[in-house]
Amino acid sequence: MSATPSDRVAVVTGASSGIGAATARALHAAGYRVALLARRVDRIDALAAELGDGAVAIQADVTDRDALLSAAQRVQDELGGADVLVNNAGIMLLGPFTPRQHEDYRRMIEVNLLGAITATEVFLDQLEDGGGDVINISSVAGRTARATNGVYAATKWGMNGWSESLRQALLPDIRVTLIEPGVVDTELPTHITHEATRQAVQKGYDVATVKPEEIADIIAFVLSRPRHLAINEILLRPADQA
Ligand code: NDP
Repeated sequence: MSATPSDRVAVVTGASSGIGAATARALHAAGYRVALLARRVDRIDALAAELGDGAVAIQADVTDRDALLSAAQRVQDELGGADVLVNNAGIMLLGPFTPRQHEDYRRMIEVNLLGAITATEVFLDQLEDGGGDVINISSVAGRTARATNGVYAATKWGMNGWSESLRQALLPDIRVTLIEPGVVDTELPTHITHEATRQAVQKGYDVATVKPEEIADIIAFVLSRPRHLAINEILLRPADQA
C-alpha cells in the first residue's frame, strides 16, 4: 500500500528558483512536506515562509558532500526522512570550447552530474525505506549536442546513462524518472560566463513559452501514478523548438 502524499516528504535540490521552486510549490500543494535545498538561503527561506507548514529550507551546495549529509540528517530529524528526491540543481554555462572556459566545464560536471549522484547516494537509505522516487532533471541536451553546449550536453547525457542504470539497480522499491525539458523560462542562461553566448542564448529565453510550473505539473503527475507503474522518461519541448 503506497503512502498518500500527505505522508510523503520530497527533497528538491535547486529549490531557490525556476523549475526547482515551481516543483516544491506543486508538490507542497499536492500534500507533500518539502525540503528546499539550494545555496541562496534568502530565497529558500522566503519560499519556505510562503509555503508555511511542512516546508523546510536547508542551505546546501550539491558539490559539498558534507553539506548534503547534514541536510539528510535534518530531513530525517525534522521530516522523518525523504520519500522523493528531485535532482534538479544545475547550471548551463554555454560557450565555445576553449581553455578560457575550463572553470565552467569543471563546475557543470560537479553540479549537474556529480551533484545529482552525490545527493542520491546520500539520501539512498531514506529513499529505500518505504518506497521512494528519484526524479532526475536532464534536458533535451541529454539527447542532442551542439557546437556550443558540449560539456553541458555531456553532463546531461551522463545523467541519462546513469539514470537508466540507477533505474535497473533500484527497482522495484525506488522508481527513477528522467525529465528532459527543452527551453523553459527560468534564470538558467543568466549565469553564462561567455558574454556573447549569454546574450545570444538570453534572446531565446526572452521569448520562452514553457513555464517552470508546467514542468512541475509533469513531475507531480509522474509521482502521483500508482506504485506498480513507473514512468521512466519524459522528453518535452516548446512546440516550436526544433
Ligand atoms: P535556475 O537557474 O532557475 O535554477 C537552478 C537551480 O540550481 C537554482 O535553484 C540554484 O540554486 C541551483 N544550484 C546551482 N548550483 C548549485 C549548487 N552548487 N548547489 C545547489 N544548488 C545549486 O534554472 P532552471 O530552473 O532552469 O534549472 C533547473 C534544472 O533544469 C537544471 O538542472 C537545468 O539544467 C535543467 N533544465 C533547464 C532548462 C531550461 O531551459 N530552463 C531546460 C532543460 C533542463 P542556488 O544558486 O541558490 O544554489
